[in-house]
Amino acid sequence: MTYPTQPTASHFIGGAYVEDTAGTPIDVVYPATGEVIATVHAATPAIIDKAVTSARTAQTAWAAMTGTERGRILRRAADMMRARNHALSVLETYDTGKPYQETSVVDATSGADALEYFGGMAATLTGEHIQLGEDWVYTRREPLGLCVGIGAWNYPTQIACWKGAPALACGNATIFKPSETTPLCALKVAEILHEAGLPAGLYNVVQGMGEVGGALVSDPRVDKVSLTGSVPTGRKVYAAAADGIKHVTMELGGKSPLIVFEDADIENAVSGAILGNFYSSGQVCSNGTRVFVHRDIKDAFLQRLSERLANARIGDPMDPDTSFGPMVSERQKDIVLGYIATGKSEGARLVTGGAQMERDGYYIQPTVFADVTDEMTIAREEIFGPVMAVLDFDDEADVLRRANDTEFGLAAGVFTRDLARAHRIAAGFEAGTCYINTYNDAPVEAPFGGSKASGIGRENSKAAIEHYSQLKSVYVRMGDLEAPF
Ligand code: NDP
Repeated sequence: MTYPTQPTASHFIGGAYVEDTAGTPIDVVYPATGEVIATVHAATPAIIDKAVTSARTAQTAWAAMTGTERGRILRRAADMMRARNHALSVLETYDTGKPYQETSVVDATSGADALEYFGGMAATLTGEHIQLGEDWVYTRREPLGLCVGIGAWNYPTQIACWKGAPALACGNATIFKPSETTPLCALKVAEILHEAGLPAGLYNVVQGMGEVGGALVSDPRVDKVSLTGSVPTGRKVYAAAADGIKHVTMELGGKSPLIVFEDADIENAVSGAILGNFYSSGQVCSNGTRVFVHRDIKDAFLQRLSERLANARIGDPMDPDTSFGPMVSERQKDIVLGYIATGKSEGARLVTGGAQMERDGYYIQPTVFADVTDEMTIAREEIFGPVMAVLDFDDEADVLRRANDTEFGLAAGVFTRDLARAHRIAAGFEAGTCYINTYNDAPVEAPFGGSKASGIGRENSKAAIEHYSQLKSVYVRMGDLEAPF
C-alpha cells in the first residue's frame, strides 16, 4: 500500500483533527485484499460531548451570516473537491472497494455538486410576506440548530456531502458519523470545508459503531437526525428521535422493481438492469433488483444480459479498466452468498454467476437468477449485492400490482417505447424515485428519497431545504389592539 490511508486522527471536531485512543479501535479493511489500511477509534462520551458543544457554540454566528457568505464557502469547497478529485477517488476506492472507474466520476463529484448547488441556493432562502388588510405577517426561514448525519458505507463521500451541504446552507451546525466500515472519506470532506473557510465547529466528524449514532440521536442538544441506512436501523433511529421530538430524514433500503415491456429497446433495458444491479457491486439502495421481463422477450433479454455480463472487467479496483469490484466487507460478502444459496434452494434458476471468486478480497460474481417468483426470499428481501432476480409477466395491471407488493418504496423503473404506458406506470408506482427508460440517476437538482418503509423526507433539490430549516411566523398589527375586557 503506497497511498496514505491512515488519517491524521480519528475525529474532526472544532475545525481540527482530534484523537482519543480510549475509544474502541476500528480497523479499516481494503475490500480488494482484506488488508488493514488504517485504524481509527470510536468516539468516547468525551469526544461526543466535545463535538456537540463545539457545534452548538459555532452555530449561532454561522446562522447570523448572510446566505451569500455561507454559500461562498460551500462553493469554494465544491471547487476544491473537484480539484482534488483524483486523491478523493483513490481514498473512496480504498474505503469501499468500489472501482476507481466509478469513484472518479461519481463520489467526490456528486459531493461537489451538492456543495455547489446548496451553496448557490443559500443566498436565495427567504421567508414570505402575507398581507392581512393593513396588518401583516412575515415568515422567517430559520435553521433547525444542530443536525446529525449518520451514514451507510456504500457512498461515504457523497452521503457526507448530501447531508452536510443543505444543513450548512440553511445555517445549521452538523456532526456526521460515518459507517464504521468506511470511516475515512468524511474526514476529508471536513478538512476541505474548513480549508474553504468554514468556521470551526460547524462540520464535525465522529467515528463509531451504532452506539455512537445512538448517543447522538438521543442527545437533547441535537435538533435533527438524517440517517442513510437499513430499515431496521431506521426504525430504531426514528423511535429515538421521536422521543426527543426531533426532525428526521430517513434514507432507507429498498427492493425496487424494474419492468421491461415487450416493446422496450432491449439493449437499453439490459443497460438499465446492469446499472440497477451491478454498479458498485450491487451495493446501491435504489437498485432495481426485481426485474420483471415480459414473457415474449425474456429469452432475448437473458441472452443479451449474459453476453454483456461476460464483458465485466472484474479485478483490481485501482485499475481504471476494472468495472466491477469486491463487496465492501467480509460480512457483506457472507450475507450475499447466503442469499445466493437461498435462491438456489428455493428453486430459482441460476443463469450466471453465483459464487465467490477465487482471489483475495471479497469478490462475488455478478449473479442472475431467472424464473424467480414473488414469494421467494431473493424477491422479497434487500440483498445489497450483485444479485439480480428476473421475474416473468404477461399483463400490465398485474405486473404493476406485483411491483408494488412490497413494504419498500424507494425506487422503480420501466422500459417501454410506449410513452403513455410509461407515464401510466410511473404514476402507479408506489416509490419516491421513478425512472423511465433509464435507471439510478441521482442528480442534485431532483428530490431523492423513498416512500413506504424506504424513508421519510427527501434529499437534494429545493425539497431538502424544507428538511433543514423551519418557518417562524411573525404577526404585525399596525393599529390598536382590541380585547374583550
Ligand atoms: P445500517 O443500517 O447497518 O447502518 C447505517 C448507519 O447507522 C451506520 O453508520 C451504523 O453504524 C448506524 N447505526 C446502526 N445502529 C444504530 C443505532 N441504533 N442508532 C444510530 N445509528 C446506528 O446500514 P449499512 O451501513 O449496512 O448500509 C446499508 C443500508 O443502507 C441498506 O439497507 C441500504 O439500502 C441503505 N442505504 C440507503 C440509501 C438511501 O438513500 N435510501 C443509500 C445507501 C444505503 P455502524 O454500521 O458503524 O454500526
